[in-house]
Amino acid sequence: MYILYVDESGVEEGSGGTDHFVLLGLAIRAERWKEHDHALEAVKREFHLEGVEIHTAWMARRYVDQEKVEGLPDLDSGGRVAAAKKERAAHAGVLGIQGAPEKLKAYRRYCRATEPYLHLLRSERLDCLDRLASQIGQWDDARIFAEAVSKSDFANRRGLSLYEAAFEQVLTRFQSFLERRRATGIVVHDNNEKVATRLTHMAREFHRFGTFWKKIHNIVETPLFVDSGLTAMIQMADLAAYALRRKIENSEVDLWNRFEPRVDRSRGKLVGLRHFTGSRRCSCCICKAHGRR
Ligand SMILES: [Zn+2]
Repeated sequence: MYILYVDESGVEEGSGGTDHFVLLGLAIRAERWKEHDHALEAVKREFHLEGVEIHTAWMARRYVDQEKVEGLPDLDSGGRVAAAKKERAAHAGVLGIQGAPEKLKAYRRYCRATEPYLHLLRSERLDCLDRLASQIGQWDDARIFAEAVSKSDFANRRGLSLYEAAFEQVLTRFQSFLERRRATGIVVHDNNEKVATRLTHMAREFHRFGTFWKKIHNIVETPLFVDSGLTAMIQMADLAAYALRRKIENSEVDLWNRFEPRVDRSRGKLVGLRHFTGSRRCSCCICKAHGRR
């Protein structure tokens, strides 16, 4: 039995600072879940992040306010957090005086989201993400299935939104893998109110009629929606999706290279991952490995 954890990176609509939308599924064998979960917890413990959600985008970004603290690397955990919070309070005060309520609101949101990681320097946060990715890269039962869509090349065909089309792709690839393994699979999805109802409905239709390409005999149930804050494997799907988007958009290869060995392959072809650019030709390494001409 395989569990497929699905999460996204990038925003579906508009530019939102991203050219691509990535939907990624990380599958592991249910029998090995406990062992894998322990391994992730051990890495998190080393960085004093026990029980903390690994939210990749928040961890990976620069914290300019934190970087203003003089002698930050020399402080202990408590000292780092206290000093950064002092910087933050001062900056929030300035925004308040300037009468910029929207900016202040956004700043407070950023402060809340990044507070669990304030005891870590950026280099340590990146090291933590790298260590987690390396872990997954070593799990021989794990497989990655993903669709990376160039948003400007996507056309809404068959009445499917970008998200729905990507979901259908990921599910179809997971089914192909399960067929080859003669195994059963279940899908666990990051809770996303915007798409949950529609994806559940789609999955029901797939059970009755198959996807556009395939019957999904080996997948059971409709997707189970979970809170990413509480489910470590969903956070790892988020990490992998982020790594893939950054590779495609920014040519940042290091993090993705950790995951790459886990992308599903069949007869030497990279079948688990597609870079969708519509009719526009693309000769990136993913397109080449996928066998696209
Ligand atoms: Zn490509």
